Amino acid sequence: MRGLLITIDGPAGAGKTTVSRRVAEQLGYRYVDTGALYRTVALTARAAGIEPDDDAGLAGVCDGLAIEVVRTAGGTRFLANGDDVADRLRTPEITRMASAVSARPAVRRHLLAVQRELGREKNAVFEGRDMGTVVFPEADRKFFLEADLDARARRRHAELAADPNETLETVREAIRRRDEDDSTRALAPLKPAPDAIRIDTTDLDIDGVVSAILAHC
Ligand code: C5P
Repeated sequence: MRGLLITIDGPAGAGKTTVSRRVAEQLGYRYVDTGALYRTVALTARAAGIEPDDDAGLAGVCDGLAIEVVRTAGGTRFLANGDDVADRLRTPEITRMASAVSARPAVRRHLLAVQRELGREKNAVFEGRDMGTVVFPEADRKFFLEADLDARARRRHAELAADPNETLETVREAIRRRDEDDSTRALAPLKPAPDAIRIDTTDLDIDGVVSAILAHC
């Protein structure tokens, strides 16, 4: 299977990451986690003491941020100014801050160019919020994964099981607020592209979702 650019969008906890990685593996494609780009900007801004509503500061962070792409067996990882920051991107604080900086024009503009450059070769699965609507409106296949809030909260809570501070209730509330923020922002809000194939993953296991997607590819 050659030459497709596949986008997989959806809210937090809908299964995008696992599914996107598996689909990419099966097709021999690159997997690109675009949420990691927003998280990297958030991490860099925090280290520089820049607040998420400081547009000029964020523009400076983006200009000074060289993002390099490293391909690994698990997908594409990003180096921020030469640093592998992957292990620092998943804290609750960076998760909240990524959502906040992702609403700012300077950040979206900067990362739009980065993502389009990464997509030029096709043969890739891009996971995010606005892949099918804004970044790659001409994508060859577009998917939008959804699942009810309780199912998404349970999955995310299970992933965070090592952290005793995260109860099912706090995880559910964090996801609900983040999806609301991501869906209601003015720029590139989370929503399905009109031509996206929508898959409700509430009652499906990973294999079921991956097979459904591959069947369309
Ligand atoms: O997918 P992930 O949870 O890592 O994304 C973190 C945050 O980055 C999301 O809550 C969203 O605000 C933002 N994001 C975005 N557009 C994308 C990918 C992520 O706005 N394409």
